[in-house]
Amino acid sequence: MNRRPSSSGGARRVRCRCGRTVLRQLVGNRAALDVTADADQLTPAEAAALREPNRLDWCLRTTKAGLDLRWADCHRREAECTRPHVIDHQCTAPPAAAMPQGRRPRTTSVPEGQLTLG
Ligand SMILES: [Zn+2]
Repeated sequence: MNRRPSSSGGARRVRCRCGRTVLRQLVGNRAALDVTADADQLTPAEAAALREPNRLDWCLRTTKAGLDLRWADCHRREAECTRPHVIDHQCTAPPAAAMPQGRRPRTTSVPEGQLTLG
C-alpha cells in the first residue's frame, strides 16, 4: 500500500447518486478517512450545529491545488476558525441493497443517478 496518500490531490467535486454535488477526499495522514461532504460551504458555527456523532464537519481550505479538507480541530481552539466548513454528506438516495423484496421498482428510461433535478 502507498504509505503517503497524495496530499496534493485535494478534494474532488463529484456528483452523488442522489444528485447533489459533494466533495470527496481522503483526509488525514495516517488513518485517512474517505470523506464525502456536501459542497455547500457553511460557517464553522453552522457546521458545528449540524454535527452528529457520525456526522463530522470539515475545515475547508483553498490551496493552489484546489480545495483541501482538513479535520475541523479548529473547534477546539479558542479563536473560531475563519475558513468555510463543510458537513458530511447524508445521502438521500436509497441504498440499493435495502430494496424490499418482491416490490421491484418500475423500470424507467432514466438510469440511476441521472434523476432529473427538481
Ligand atoms: Zn447523496
